[in-house]
Amino acid sequence: MVSSSVQDVVSERGLSRRDFLKFCSLMAGVLALPRPYMKRIEKALAAPARTPVIWLEFQDCAGCTEAFLRASRPTAAELILDVLSVDYHETIMAASGHRAEEAKQTSIDAGGYLLVVEGSIPSAEDGIYCCIGGRTALDILQEAAANALAVVSVGNCSSFGGLPKASPNPTEALSVMELVTDKPVLNLPGCPYNPVNLTATIVHFLTFGELPAMDSLHRPLFAYGARIHDNCERRGHFDAGEFVKEWGDEGHRKGWCLYQMGCKGPVTFHNCPAVRYNDGTNWPVASGHGCIGCSEPDFWEFGIYTTIELDAFTPPTTYAPVQIPAQSIDPTSTAVMGGLAGLAIGAAGAAAYQALSKPDENGDASSEEKE
Ligand code: SF4
Repeated sequence: MVSSSVQDVVSERGLSRRDFLKFCSLMAGVLALPRPYMKRIEKALAAPARTPVIWLEFQDCAGCTEAFLRASRPTAAELILDVLSVDYHETIMAASGHRAEEAKQTSIDAGGYLLVVEGSIPSAEDGIYCCIGGRTALDILQEAAANALAVVSVGNCSSFGGLPKASPNPTEALSVMELVTDKPVLNLPGCPYNPVNLTATIVHFLTFGELPAMDSLHRPLFAYGARIHDNCERRGHFDAGEFVKEWGDEGHRKGWCLYQMGCKGPVTFHNCPAVRYNDGTNWPVASGHGCIGCSEPDFWEFGIYTTIELDAFTPPTTYAPVQIPAQSIDPTSTAVMGGLAGLAIGAAGAAAYQALSKPDENGDASSEEKE
């Protein structure tokens, strides 16, 4: 454990208390927590002694690590990970070779860390298709998971197998949750995952001492509790029967619905319309490409430009209802805020996040700070 608090590190880096409070507000917004919980987050992040993190990479493209490294807003997101002490991350750590492995072993022996896993795990031929330091990914994962407090899978590969698992799956790739069954496992699928959701998960863990409430696929409800389709900025065009028919046509130029171009938004659960990517800059549907369903299992088999059959929606003669997702809470991972943080993230969470993540143009303190 390290002794600095998030608030200490914010201060050391010359950022104001307002920055710290704004970060707390932002995280409460992402987690769809009611206003009183902002104080609890603030108190938790001001406390010293944080949890170390071990980050393992297996069959991956390092895209999730790239997303993690590109996170710069809110700036305190980086600070919280400094404070967490990322003890081992083979892509970004300064040490290499035996020294890197020793650092990992020291953390594993001490226990009490969060294990973050990126990439799927090959199981064919006893796992020889992914070896690091002469050991298979299977072996490394089992050892690291044994002393972890909890395991967080980032990206579709570690959550569901991802591209390595796509047919014909030559390495017999497996997800983390197929291999780790005696620890809480939380999935943050996406290709890549969104680092905002990892930061919010960690803030929840630090504040409440456990992982947030999840659906049956181990995805946190605050981030995956609503369909993309239900919060999409093009939804009005779907309901009006206004569809892009081919790339570059008039409907495409006018920002109409991309369903007929293969958009998977109606069957995909993720908070992309709210948090977007690249620090809230944009997301695929806003830039003119349909959702590819990257937070769902086996999305590589969907066919990116294949129009999906919709059982629950009949465009455009029947207006598509905004439906409550048919998901169940995983009883082993039900958190303190289970009922509250779940489906409320939809429009309310999106609005909160977008309002709070805007740059502070006029220098006003956040409303929470004024209280
Ligand atoms: S089908 Fe896709 S583009 Fe159209 S409203 Fe739904 S999510 Fe948006």
